[in-house]
Amino acid sequence: MTIITLPPSCTELLLNHLGGRWTAGTGDATPLFDPVLGTELVRVDATGLDLSGGFEHTRRVGGTALRALTYRARAGLLGAIGKVLQANRDAYYEIATANSGTVKNDSAVDIDGAIYTLGTYARLGDALGDRLTLLDGDATPLAKGGAFGSQHVQVPVQGLALFINAFNFPAWGLWEKAAPALLSGVPVVVKPGTSTAWLTQRMVRDVVEAGILPPGALNIVCGSSAGLLDALRPFDVLSFTGSADTAALLRRHPAVAERSVRVNIEADSVNSAVLMPGAVPGSAAFDLLVKEVAREMTVKSGQKCTAIRRIFVPEALYDAAAEAIGARLAKTTVGNPRNEAVRMGSLVSRAQLRSVQDGLATLQQHAQTLFDGRGAALIDADPAIAACIAPVLLGTRDADGTDIVHTTEVFGPVATLLPYRDAAHARALVARGEGSLVCSLYGEDGADSAHALADTALDLAASHGRVHVITPEVATLQSGHGNVMPQSLHGGPGRAGGGEELGGLRALNFYHRRAAVQGSAAVLGGVQASA
Ligand code: NAP
Repeated sequence: MTIITLPPSCTELLLNHLGGRWTAGTGDATPLFDPVLGTELVRVDATGLDLSGGFEHTRRVGGTALRALTYRARAGLLGAIGKVLQANRDAYYEIATANSGTVKNDSAVDIDGAIYTLGTYARLGDALGDRLTLLDGDATPLAKGGAFGSQHVQVPVQGLALFINAFNFPAWGLWEKAAPALLSGVPVVVKPGTSTAWLTQRMVRDVVEAGILPPGALNIVCGSSAGLLDALRPFDVLSFTGSADTAALLRRHPAVAERSVRVNIEADSVNSAVLMPGAVPGSAAFDLLVKEVAREMTVKSGQKCTAIRRIFVPEALYDAAAEAIGARLAKTTVGNPRNEAVRMGSLVSRAQLRSVQDGLATLQQHAQTLFDGRGAALIDADPAIAACIAPVLLGTRDADGTDIVHTTEVFGPVATLLPYRDAAHARALVARGEGSLVCSLYGEDGADSAHALADTALDLAASHGRVHVITPEVATLQSGHGNVMPQSLHGGPGRAGGGEELGGLRALNFYHRRAAVQGSAAVLGGVQASA
């Protein structure tokens, strides 16, 4: 790798990897900061890169080499990547602390979540065996006697996968997409969210330098996204994670609108938690909801696309729920993640802090503040410099009339408590989110409760990517409202972007093209034999 010598006053300039080379941008680099200390860490710049040539190299060199391997062989590559990441895990935690301002437990969600996801796809891919093609169903006869028929197949797309990612998951956000793409035989270009690009770049650097993947299979562009979509060709795919506003811009780009580049969008979402009708304060279901809400509001300082933003409780329990959630939030110590006493670190940047403060102030014009942790001093952090903010619980008894709480995502430790009259009212209020990533339901054990929970889950499935149902019998086994498991679907309809990721081998669909081969029994037999 080329080493760039910088003037002593400058921090390290992170290199881009494209076209089989490590390349520095030629423009004014963008500094990345420690959001707690305010110090500059590294710089990124993608100015002057030959995107068109680099993308062509990715398709031709990386794609061809990956597609020559079987699914089992590519699964082996994922396993080897997981080992490289595991070996460098300590360095990743240090970068996360410095650049994302997260405490260890929150860095783990990103870093260990990435390693776990890679391991899961390595196992799933190994089970696909030594084949080069996937069959989609059985052959169907199109003529009497079956002498002529149709066999659907799934073949890897013959383009590249461009990932434009959000700042909040620099590790998991790369690998939850790259694992199914590489397993499918599709080479990757990732453009991480700029403010936390360091961790993504470091992981890509480690994996490229380990020489596991064929040349051209894994690439990174750090900094501005200018020109990336212009370089996409019809067989490429684009996977975007970020805000609804940016998503709308991408959908209108000629690559998508005119060249039919397949696009997957994971956007923002006003997720909910519902305490089922009939619950009483102090019951197991009540306590489980309270615990999970406090956890979801504070993990990664609420910067999770899946975090609970709206909490629905039976109207008689509004005050009890407000008190119990507030009491739990009051235990959250906020400040410098390097201090052992701190439970919640900072937001990712001062810009993000301003955005959260603005969103909170807007919601406060329409809702009461039921708990505000901002009175307590930050631990080991200067409020004039650090991007730290304590959790705030809002609430309004007018859940029907306060539209803004159903439509506004404040990307920080903020949620709103809302009362409902009966089960139908609760479902109608949840649906006001216009499509979300996840909703969690809290009920008791027992057959009647299970029946009501299943019924509600199926109703909400139409407007959610995932419905997470918690009863006391699974309290210690459950994976968490906000944790995205590779075995389960991630994505949501409507406002959430309409995308689908993960869900085990379902994720491979995005990176494959389905086609029907029509022919004689002998030809279809040949197709089946290669799968
Ligand atoms: P963002 O501002 O939309 O940025 C997302 C990515 O798009 C970044 O890499 C950004 O680059 C890039 N970008 C910005 N403008 C662009 C343009 N005109 N053309 C191409 N790319 C462009 O979102 P964010 O603030 O990073 O992320 C927070 C949001 O993401 C939240 O709303 C959250 O709900 C959502 N999110 C959703 C999921 C999910 O799975 N559904 C997961 C995580 C986050 P720069 O960083 O260089 O600006």
